[in-house]
Amino acid sequence: MPDAPTPEQILAAPKVLLHDHLDGGLRPATVVDLAREQGYDRLPTTDVAELGTWFTAQAWSGSLERYLEPFSHTVGVMQTADALRRVAAEAAEDLRADGVVYAEVRFAPELHTEQGLELDDVVAAVVDGFASVGGIRVGTLVTAMRHAARSVEVAGLALRWRDRGVVGFDIAGAEAGYPPTRHLDAFQLLQRENAHFTIHAGEAFGLPSIWEALQWCGADRLGHGVRIVDDITADPVTGEVHLGRLAAYVRDMRIPLEMCPTSNVQTGAAASIAEHPVGLLRRLRFRVTVNTDNRLMSGVSLSGELTACAAAFDWSFDDLRRLTLNATKSTFLDFGERLTIMSDVVKPFFADHGAA
Ligand SMILES: [Zn+2]
Repeated sequence: MPDAPTPEQILAAPKVLLHDHLDGGLRPATVVDLAREQGYDRLPTTDVAELGTWFTAQAWSGSLERYLEPFSHTVGVMQTADALRRVAAEAAEDLRADGVVYAEVRFAPELHTEQGLELDDVVAAVVDGFASVGGIRVGTLVTAMRHAARSVEVAGLALRWRDRGVVGFDIAGAEAGYPPTRHLDAFQLLQRENAHFTIHAGEAFGLPSIWEALQWCGADRLGHGVRIVDDITADPVTGEVHLGRLAAYVRDMRIPLEMCPTSNVQTGAAASIAEHPVGLLRRLRFRVTVNTDNRLMSGVSLSGELTACAAAFDWSFDDLRRLTLNATKSTFLDFGERLTIMSDVVKPFFADHGAA
């Protein structure tokens, strides 16, 4: 039985990240720099350390709606091609420093056109920024905002860029009141074009949102999906676990769950890391992955999230290996590229650490 992994070993492990928002992962110093360059005067403070603390404090709000407020500032300074390119390059550098070998980073192009950029200019700058950093690969997911009405246009954008750095599509934003079926046209367009997409579902809202995302919209993955536990019961006497039909479908079909533990605690989707459903879902062998969501707002890294979960749930190297293989299998890369990451990078590292 190998020893439990240390934080240093988790940092050194090759990792794959599926759920990370570009506008949620800026360096505080870059926010201050960009605000000065662009004459953006609405930051709560221009002191770098204070600003970093402010972002994290805002995140401990207890609701998804309040959690989303600070994004007005990061999005506010990401309105030029140079700013977008810089933020994307720095995200790639920061993820590489955290031991991430492949990441899918998402953002909503429609939020970055306030100063006249076209949607295609926005995507071009971000894709360029990601590609400028070596030693890591970053695939772009373009996101449509669920309260807005541009999802078909943004899905078209994803298709135009699919062979040039964009690997998929997503919808994000306030979940309650904005069911995924509002954007059925966009999802059906992507399905007809054999394209990949994930949907934020089962974070602030429960099973109906997950059900719609899968069974009406055809999502390949679930962003968060944490409320799937509402369809799982344990017998109080025998402890025997029973899966409802939707939970069984998610497990049977190996639907990837892009879980973001700290973010879920901050928005109230889970009470604490120790009580986060990721532990149970991993035990029940759902296709669980661990992710960051918003590295700036939540004050997290992928290594940090895995370290916190490993401590809470006694995860071994074997658990980490399984989670990393889950994530690699669930990327929107083509099959051959997934196999290469698994056989050349992930499996050799874990074999060296006694996880078969
Ligand atoms: Zn998210």
